[in-house]
Amino acid sequence: MKFAILSRNPKLYSTRRLIEACGAQDHEVRVLDPLRCYMNITSHRPSIHYKGEKLEGFDAVIPRIGASVTFYGTAVLRQFEMMGVYPLNESVAITRARDKLRAVQLLARAGIGLPVTGFAHKPDDVQDLLREVGGAPAVIKLLEGTQGIGVVLAETHKAAESVIEAFMGLKANILVQEFIKEAGGADIRCFVIGGKVVAAMKRQGKEGEFRSNLHRGGEATIIRISPEERSTAVRAAKVMGLDVCGVDILRSNHGPVVMEVNSSPGLEGIEKATGKDVAGMVVSYAKKRVAETAGQKKRTRTRGQG
Ligand code: ADP
Ligand code: MG
Repeated sequence: MKFAILSRNPKLYSTRRLIEACGAQDHEVRVLDPLRCYMNITSHRPSIHYKGEKLEGFDAVIPRIGASVTFYGTAVLRQFEMMGVYPLNESVAITRARDKLRAVQLLARAGIGLPVTGFAHKPDDVQDLLREVGGAPAVIKLLEGTQGIGVVLAETHKAAESVIEAFMGLKANILVQEFIKEAGGADIRCFVIGGKVVAAMKRQGKEGEFRSNLHRGGEATIIRISPEERSTAVRAAKVMGLDVCGVDILRSNHGPVVMEVNSSPGLEGIEKATGKDVAGMVVSYAKKRVAETAGQKKRTRTRGQG
């Protein structure tokens, strides 16, 4: 089989591991920078060109599209879909997951446990919004933040009010959330492939830090998850329509709550913490899906909801 990996940097751990896994399973693989792909959008014979060359013959495309290039990256992925190339995560599902508001709304609609979450447009509504999520302490998140940047814990009502007003003053979109104190600065990353949790790790934020992101100095260890956590992760992946994703869960007093679903989960933390060949599992799954979907009508499908 011939794989394309949409990634801006072939040197990144995740990209390197996917290249290795393709090689180990005797597949051909090429890394394509999504920003260097340009397209001819016709219904008759859609095509993608790359540095002067017309791309042809790919069976599967693995998107590793960075948050900052979501818009163009998903357009390129959509074009691969139009050409009948199997996408490991559809463009629509990635777009869904990247919009944090849309994602929490979809998860809530499906009855999946979430921290109480609110959002508002006008500073006038801040007081009421804070009351709705249970008051301080509260977590305030920039919608377009990643790697823990833009996530603030406001310990007091006054602090929460000032932070919300400041963000709103900058015209930033924010989300206000109940603080799950009992999680103790830790969360659980469930790595889901094809509706199964194939690996799970606990990430613990460094001393005095409520954010567990590895980029913020958090540490990862292997963890055994409960059946409820497992089914929560699988359901969240299904609602988002993602074949491969990282579902981040907090252990709250009222059971597992989903914090976010990541459509391009990193491989380094999870492989090192669990010792599992997650890249290999991703590639095997793609191969299986290509065989299953062969002959299906070539168009952008939409799994998941909304
Ligand atoms: P990002 O997309 O930047 O990673 P997250 O929503 O995942 O943003 O938040 C970053 C980290 O902050 C999480 O991994 C978690 O440890 C902590 N965190 C986020 N929301 C809450 C919350 N409601 N209660 C407790 N901790 C939280
Ligand atoms: Mg996160």
